[in-house]
Formats: sequence, C-alpha cells, structure tokens
Amino acid sequence: MADKQINGQPEKVAPPQKQYPVVLTGQPALVTGASSGIGKAVALGLARSGADVVVNYIGDATAAEDIAHEIESLGRRALAISADVSKEDEVEHMYAQAIQHFGTLHIAVSNAGLQADAPFDEMTLEQWNKVIGVNLTGQFLTTRAAVREFKRRGPKPDISVATGKLLCMSSVHQEIPWGGHVNYATSKGGINMMMRSIAQEIAPLRIRVNAIAPGAIRTPINREAWDTPEAYNKLMELVPYLRIGEPDDIARAAAWLVSDAADYITGATLYIDGGMTLYPGFATGG
Ligand code: NAD
Repeated sequence: MADKQINGQPEKVAPPQKQYPVVLTGQPALVTGASSGIGKAVALGLARSGADVVVNYIGDATAAEDIAHEIESLGRRALAISADVSKEDEVEHMYAQAIQHFGTLHIAVSNAGLQADAPFDEMTLEQWNKVIGVNLTGQFLTTRAAVREFKRRGPKPDISVATGKLLCMSSVHQEIPWGGHVNYATSKGGINMMMRSIAQEIAPLRIRVNAIAPGAIRTPINREAWDTPEAYNKLMELVPYLRIGEPDDIARAAAWLVSDAADYITGATLYIDGGMTLYPGFATGG
C-alpha cells in the first residue's frame, strides 16, 4: 500500500491509532446513526475513552447490536436503541430509555445523516424534506432532548467540569457550496448556525456545544468517491494531504472535544478534512 502512487506521490496512510486516554469514565454518551461509518467509530472511540454508550440506529439492528457487544467487550456498558431522529416521539422515547438505563447522559453526538442528491431543478420536495428532516431537524431534536436532561441533572463537577457536552456532525459543505446536493449543503449550513446559537444560549449553564466538519471520510455514504482507483485519484485532487480520512480520524477528535481537556471550547467547528477547505485549486497560484 505504501508504494501506491496518488497523483504522482506515494500514498499516505492513516495512522493505526487506537489509543484513547481514558477520561470519560462515568459520562454516558448517546451517538445517533451509530451503526455504521463515523457514528460507529465515534461510539467505539468514546467507549475506549471510558464512556458507556447508547448506540442509536435505524434499520440494521444486527449491526447496532454487534457494536454494542464490541463496546461491552471493552468493559463498558452499551445499549442499542432504534429511533428515527427526524421523529419527535421516537427521539423523546429514546432519551427516556437511555436515561432510565444509565441514570443520565453527559454527552450527545448528533451524527445521523443522509443524502438524497438531484440537480436542483429536478429535486423533489420529498428529497428536500427528507434531508432537512434527518440532518437538521434530527439534530435539533437530539440536542434539545440532551439539553433538557443536562439541565434536569445539573452540574456534577466530580464527573466533568461541564454540565454536558454536545457534538454536531456537520460537513465541509457547511462552508463549500455543493451543486447537485443543495439539500445536503443547506442542512449542514443550518447546523453551523444552529450549533453556534445553541452554544451562545447555554454557555452560562456550562454546557458546551461544538461541531466537527469532516471532509472526505471512507464510509458507506460516499462509497462511489473512493472505491475505484480512478475515483480515489480524482478525489485526491480535492485533498492536499493526499489521503482519504478514516472514521477513526473523526473519532479521536470527537473523544477529545467532549472531554474536559477541551473545556474552554464552545461554539467551534473543527474541520477534519486533510486540507479540503484550503482551496487546493489555488495551491499553484490560482
Ligand atoms: P453512514 O451512511 O455510514 O452513516 C449515517 C448513519 O445515519 C447511518 O448509520 C444511518 O443509518 C443513520 N441514519 C440515517 N437516517 C437516520 C434517521 N432518520 N435516524 C437515525 N439514524 C439515521 O455515513 P457517515 O459518513 O458515517 O455519516 C455520518 C455523518 O457524517 C453524517 O451526518 C454525514 O453527513 C457526515 N459526514 C460524512 C462525511 C464523509 O465523507 N463520510 C463527510 C462530511 C460529513
């Protein structure tokens, strides 16, 4: 793999990094869309950092149960819960189950997301509503339920300096316009302003709210962008660091952002994109 050439340069590979500092002990976490891709890696990363984890999923119960078992094999507790994050009653029910099981939550990662792509003039209202409903309204519902629980429980400074931590999974497309994906880019732009407005409102409660904006990460959502050498090479024209991101690249940062090591950070978006937002087209003068 090391001698593979990507656009004339040796391919870089992700570090085999599975080491997480154990700093989230006693802080149950809920991760939405955790049965695959980035959500799965974040759920496992938080568990490696000491957290018990609620594995939210829709559809694939076996995958979610497998991840719950993997978390248990790390010595943590886990609970897989099916809920459609775009439905208020299902989100409320999931939080009630999670709080009953773990006593409270300290961390909520709103990660579930999808795409329904179409040229703008062919995009149906259904495609628009689906993506906004899951990616944006879903994050509203899941962060709101978490804030209600953080307020109910109140501060526990012996467990964490912050009363609660929220992490929103955004995208480089909160910043980079994306033709053919107007619904998706709009949902991520909305997450940016929602996240910062919530952060501003609830900072006095010592609840921290941040976002991660991934670039191209190797998951099922974007398989066509990396699963052939031609597609991968084309993708690398957009990635100055010349490697695709791996879900664990996101998980390591997520575990740190929700830990007390990042205590003074709120309302921030961390771009994890190998330089995709550095306008690589201008690298040689534009
Ligand atoms: P993925 O398809 O593996 O994960 C998305 C998850 O969301 C799936 O497990 C899916 O079942 C779940 N989901 C979809 N609709 C749901 C609903 N209504 N209720 C509950 N869960 C639902 O892809 P991923 O790349 O891991 O995506 C995770 C997040 O990261 C998404 O928000 C995505 O927009 C974001 N993201 C991904 C990339 C990337 O390159 N992979 C880049 C930027 C942002």
